Amino acid sequence: MRSSNPEITRFSGQQFTNRVVYPLAGIMLVMIIVVIGFLVASAHQQNRLSVQGSTRLATTALQVKAREVGRNLRDYTIRPDVYDHLHGGIDLGWAVTEGNVGANIRNDLGYEMVFVVAPGDKTIYALIDGVPTKADALEVMPRGLRDLLHVAAIQPDPTTSLIKSGNDIYVVAANGILPPSIDRASINPRELTMLVFAKRLDQKFLDSMGHDYLLSDLSISLNDENAKDAFIPLMTQNRMYLGTISWAAPKPGTQLLNFIIPPLAAALLILATFSILVVRNARRSTDALEASASRVTHLAHHDALTGLPNRVLFREHLDLALSPAVFNTSPVAVICLDLDNFKEVNDSLGHAAGDQLLQQVSQRLQACASHNDTVARLGGDEFALIQIGTNQPHDAEELSRRLIESIRTPFVVDDQTLHIGVSIGIALADTTNGIPERLLKNADIALYRAKQGGRATYRIFEAQMDAELQERRGLEYDLRQAVLKNELELHYQPLIDLEQHTVAAVEALVRWRHPTRGLVSPADFIPMAEETGLIVAIGEWVLETACGEALKWDRLRIAVNLSPVQFKNHELVETVRQVLQRTGLEPERLELEVTESILINDTAAALEILNGLKALGVKIAMDDFGTGYSSLGYLNSFPFDKIKIDRSFIGDLSDTEKSGAIVKSVIGLGQSLKMVTTAEGVETSEQAAFLREQGCDQVQGFYFSRPVAATELSAFIRNWNAPSAREQMDTEAAA
Ligand code: C2E
Ligand code: MG
Ligand code: MG
Repeated sequence: MRSSNPEITRFSGQQFTNRVVYPLAGIMLVMIIVVIGFLVASAHQQNRLSVQGSTRLATTALQVKAREVGRNLRDYTIRPDVYDHLHGGIDLGWAVTEGNVGANIRNDLGYEMVFVVAPGDKTIYALIDGVPTKADALEVMPRGLRDLLHVAAIQPDPTTSLIKSGNDIYVVAANGILPPSIDRASINPRELTMLVFAKRLDQKFLDSMGHDYLLSDLSISLNDENAKDAFIPLMTQNRMYLGTISWAAPKPGTQLLNFIIPPLAAALLILATFSILVVRNARRSTDALEASASRVTHLAHHDALTGLPNRVLFREHLDLALSPAVFNTSPVAVICLDLDNFKEVNDSLGHAAGDQLLQQVSQRLQACASHNDTVARLGGDEFALIQIGTNQPHDAEELSRRLIESIRTPFVVDDQTLHIGVSIGIALADTTNGIPERLLKNADIALYRAKQGGRATYRIFEAQMDAELQERRGLEYDLRQAVLKNELELHYQPLIDLEQHTVAAVEALVRWRHPTRGLVSPADFIPMAEETGLIVAIGEWVLETACGEALKWDRLRIAVNLSPVQFKNHELVETVRQVLQRTGLEPERLELEVTESILINDTAAALEILNGLKALGVKIAMDDFGTGYSSLGYLNSFPFDKIKIDRSFIGDLSDTEKSGAIVKSVIGLGQSLKMVTTAEGVETSEQAAFLREQGCDQVQGFYFSRPVAATELSAFIRNWNAPSAREQMDTEAAA
């Protein structure tokens, strides 16, 4: 329970990766795939269109070639001289020697083969590569030529087909050689002599075809295994497969891809790098944000000085501890702690030392608590604990004793040994008061009682403590009102000079005229005024009123009590100076009464203020002498004008010899230090006589006068100065 675990939703780095990075990366990947897919598909489409286009071109080229061969052939078959010299027998002289159908066909027209086939498929003339041979056309072209001849015989125009011869493929055209001016229909096709031209589809042919139709790398193969991606099959007229012409079709799509892919890849690479950087930066920012968020959360829940949970986290843990799930099994105690004398350490050694002390205290508190307990610093020197015990109040009491013992052990801060204590208030949660605020308040009330009960102790809250506190609160409120509404008044008690028998001075003693309680004694409200700081305002009022009224009593000194709390304020000297100035009272007529306690904590500061007051010309009296704890040494270090022997010694005079001895020695001390001695609480003539015997300078007590209002005091002074009154006292004292 010591550390904070607030359920604050944060956007963690992992969540950032899951919610932002992965989807973003996914979207980008899909987009990249779509773009690349689209590019590849359109490149394919372009390639396909290009292949289709070039295929159409190649087909056209082949058809044009076939038509050309046919046209060339027809130029011969319609010539009368051809009929005359080739039909019915070959006129070799005319054909070869005169060069009509001889080497010229090869050289001029570029046809590798010429055949003249007489009816009955009998080859009567064969020219291969321009040279007459005895070859039989049907043997040279065993497959396809016979069919071509038969088809061509009945067609008026030349008929073409692709025919294989050996390992070559030829564009072959055949046409009957017609006699001049004879009606073709009247001729029996079987009697026709056929002329055949054959053009070999060799590389030269392919090159010129490529040149004319912008097709590159044309090649021919007899099977389709070697075919490239663009090709046309070569078929005979009756659709017999001969081979394939293939070429390298331009691939604009691939070119486009080749053109686009390097810059695209570079762009993607840059994009990816950039994205990674952006994501990494964003992730770092998120991490930094997350870290600072958790720092802020930690700061919001922990005390910066000690690292302990603060009030906020303490409340969260308390809520949790009081939830039925926990509370029903483990009773809860809230323990409030307040350091005793911490303020003094802080004031005298400074805040840095105070901070170190608080850190050490927090470590000791943690060491005493168990792992399940929450130790928190609520602020200043206030700490609190939540103890989940099993055996309450025993566990809480035991822990409190341990805590008190631990804090009592001296601390060492800046090589100085410091003694402090801790007061503890405990509130136990039960089914009726399991409300966090109530528990804390109750523990606070118990703490207050522990402080009142002498500190370095613990108290367990009881219901009547609350009532008492309410009562005190009411009184505190009333006192504040009293200051504002002028409900305070001063009574005065005379101090009698034993030698002169005169009223030497009067002591101003404050009273509170409460509307319902009546006259309240300072013993009942001064401590509260000191705790609340109201004493400063009250003290100033007393000083001003007393000094003002003192003017009424000629040459009489006025004694005013100062609280140790007023001594913590360096303004005190200035306040006194201003009051003297405002009222016009001579400083030597003012006597300020202080107690030894002002010298306990910060002697140097107190002496400085005392010197400041002395410098104004006022007298300083040591009040209630003998009740304080400090040594007599301070009487030397500061020259008081007066010692007021505490009334407890005077009251005991008749009962114990010891008191008499003490009073005697204090008077002796005063005499040797040249200080006036005053005895307080003189209630009997015996006491007065004893004191006069011992050489005490002044006396004060009910025997002479109780503290009375100013008017009564004036009457007392008048009476006292009348010789009869003085004589009476003398007589009584002598008796
Ligand atoms: P203190 O300064 O020692 O004042 C003397 C107290 O002794 C007065 O009590 C007075 O009434 C009482 N007293 C005087 N003669 C006798 C006697 O013969 N027998 C008995 N039993 N008591 C006697 P009081 O007025 O109740 O004041 C109590 C204390 O309250 C004072 O003790 C003083 O310390 C404080 N006090 C009174 N007025 C003021 C004030 O204006 N400012 C401050 N800071 N403290 C004041
Ligand atoms: Mg006094
Ligand atoms: Mg006194």
